[in-house]
Amino acid sequence: MPQTKRDYYEVLGVDRQASAAELKRAYRGLAMRYHPDRNPGDREAEERFKEIGEAYQVLSDPQRRQRYDTFGHAAEGMGAAGGFSFQSAFDLFDMFFSGAGASRGRTGPRRGSDLRLQVSVEFEEAIRGVTRSFEVTKPSPCPDCGGSGARAGTSTVACPECGGQGQIQRVRQSLLGQMVTVETCVRCQGEGKVVESPCPACHGQGLVEAPKQIEVQIPAGVDNEMQVRVPGEGAAGPRGGPPGDLYLLISVRPHEQLQRRGMTIVYECPITVSQAALGDEIEVPTVDGAVRMTVKPGTQYGQQVRIAGRGAPDPRTGRRGDQVVRLRVVIPTRLSERQKQLLQELSPPDGKPHPVRKGFFENLKDAIGL
Ligand SMILES: [Zn+2]
Ligand SMILES: [Zn+2]
Repeated sequence: MPQTKRDYYEVLGVDRQASAAELKRAYRGLAMRYHPDRNPGDREAEERFKEIGEAYQVLSDPQRRQRYDTFGHAAEGMGAAGGFSFQSAFDLFDMFFSGAGASRGRTGPRRGSDLRLQVSVEFEEAIRGVTRSFEVTKPSPCPDCGGSGARAGTSTVACPECGGQGQIQRVRQSLLGQMVTVETCVRCQGEGKVVESPCPACHGQGLVEAPKQIEVQIPAGVDNEMQVRVPGEGAAGPRGGPPGDLYLLISVRPHEQLQRRGMTIVYECPITVSQAALGDEIEVPTVDGAVRMTVKPGTQYGQQVRIAGRGAPDPRTGRRGDQVVRLRVVIPTRLSERQKQLLQELSPPDGKPHPVRKGFFENLKDAIGL
C-alpha cells in the first residue's frame, strides 16, 4: 500500500533550493514555536515538533538530503546496497548551485508536496508501455472546510506577523553598511493569511488524508531509475494551494534471457562448434517473439549480430534501438569415441600455436564490439 507522508521541505516551510543556513533558520523558528515546553499538553504541537525534527535531521545531512531529493520518503526504506544507484541518479548541478537564490521570500498559497511511488513493471511492459492504476492515499482538500482550513462560518484573516505580505524584511547594520534581507514569514509560512478558528477536521491545514484511484500511462521505453511525472497528482496544497506532482520511480523486473543496455537489448546466444564453423539459420528470442537469424560460416567466439529495430524505444521519440545477439561458441566437454576421432581427423593436436591471417584479432575486436 503506498504510504504518504508530508514532504520535508513543506514541513520546514522552505523551498527545495534552500541553503543549509536557510534550513537551519527555518528549523530553529519552527522548533521554538512547537517546542513541548511552550505547548504543554498539546498533542498536535508535539507531533509537529517531532515532524520538524525528523525533516531537519534528513535535510541537514547532505547525503541524506540528496537521497531524499531523488527518491523522497522511499529513500528511507532503502539500504546501503542501493548506494550505487543513488550516486548515478544524483544531479551534480543541484549540489553546486543549491546556494543560489538564497533568502528569496515566497508568498501566496503554498503548493502541495510532490509524492513518490515505487512501481515495478515487467521487462516487456517497459518496452511496450503499460497502463497502471493505483490507489494513492494522499493529502486532499478537507471536505468539512472546503480546503480553507477555517472552521465553518469563519474565514482566514491577514497574518498579523507580516501584515499579509507573507514575507518579513529585516534591516541590519553590518560592516558593509545597511543590509536588507527578506525572509518567508514563519507564522503563516509565506501564505500571508492565517486561520483564526481552525477547522476541527483538518486542524486548520485544509488537508485530510484520502484515498484516490489514479490511472497512469507508463510510456514505452522506460528503464530502471527513470521517473514518470504525473502532473497535479501529488498532495493538495494547504489551504487551497495548488497540488504537487506524483513521481513514479520505475524498477524493471529482469528478463530470463534478454538484457537491457539503454535502448539496446542484448541476447547471449550459445552455439555449437559446427554451427560456428559451417554456419546455420537459428531462431532467437526478442521482445516481439522469435526471429530467424543467420550465423555465418566461420563465426568466432563473441562475434555479434545486430537485429535492427528490436531494441527498446526512446521514451521521448518512440524510435526503437536494436537487439544485439552475442554468439558464444560452446566447446563440447563430453565427446564420444567417434566424435574424438572426427576431431582428430579435422585437426590433430600438434603441440604448437596456430597462427591466423594478419589482422584477424583486430577484425574480431571490431566484430565483438571491444
Ligand atoms: Zn478542514
Ligand atoms: Zn505571515
